[in-house]
Amino acid sequence: MTPPFRVAVVGCAGRMGRMNLTTIHATEGCVVAGGSDQPGSPAIGADIGGLIGVDPLGVTVTDDPVELFAQADAVIDFTTPEATRRHAGLAAQAEVVYVVGTTGLAPEDQAVVEQAAIQTVVIQSANMSLGVNLLQILTEQVAKALDADYDIEIVEMHHRHKVDSPSGTALMLGQAAAAGRGVNLDDVACRARDGQVGARPRGEIGFATLRGGDVPGEHSVIFATEGERLELSHKAGSREIFAKGALKAALWGRGRHPGLYSMRDVLGLAD
Ligand code: NAD
Repeated sequence: MTPPFRVAVVGCAGRMGRMNLTTIHATEGCVVAGGSDQPGSPAIGADIGGLIGVDPLGVTVTDDPVELFAQADAVIDFTTPEATRRHAGLAAQAEVVYVVGTTGLAPEDQAVVEQAAIQTVVIQSANMSLGVNLLQILTEQVAKALDADYDIEIVEMHHRHKVDSPSGTALMLGQAAAAGRGVNLDDVACRARDGQVGARPRGEIGFATLRGGDVPGEHSVIFATEGERLELSHKAGSREIFAKGALKAALWGRGRHPGLYSMRDVLGLAD
């Protein structure tokens, strides 16, 4: 009999952390290898089953990620950029499949993730859903087909607790639009507007951010010109799609060569 695939979750008391635990627990052939959260979190020491509303699993939440990485085949990380930097180093040492969903990474955080991918399998995406990864491809294709007479605006909405802005997904869509146009996003992005900002420069890619309530994530890419407007949209109904995508990525990564992979690789959508 094949042994179960042991998947651990760092930041397991968070919104995505709990959803990841629930998904692993419900998936045949996978077991929850453990979960961690930051020191001082009220979840430390609690049974993971209690955290996700099922019978006790006999595994408690730890604040020691070193121990956690040692007992897992894969680790799923939806935490903070600072925590992800540490976890990436541990993933490289333990050579586990490492799935990173954390957004808002600064270039120096990203460099640590890329360094880890030299030693182990890392799958990273700002959005683990099938729909958004398809939206990314469509955005690039449409941006390629339309010239700069079409103004590109990216609008996103998330729940009131989200800390980074624009969302990682909005930036990912902006990168796709810029790639379609053959430009560098940093050269054309307008990430916020306030006051007498003047007329919209031709070729700009604009971002607008809405925050409120419990919205798991909504994104639209708008191509607007005189006389018509094309809008591509995705709406997440629940966080489950991200957790299912993350576990799919972990399973896909089993036995692969070290490297940095994306959800497009996992979903078979890469060129
Ligand atoms: P959250 O605040 O609910 O959860 C984060 C958890 O990480 C918390 O429990 C926190 O205590 C824990 N944490 C912080 N520092 C830690 C440390 N050093 N060690 C262990 N745990 C630590 O946030 P969330 O809504 O679950 O989102 C988490 C991240 O995932 C964000 O960056 C968000 O943008 C991203 N996200 C990505 C996707 C995707 O598909 N890639 C989808 C949704 C959210």
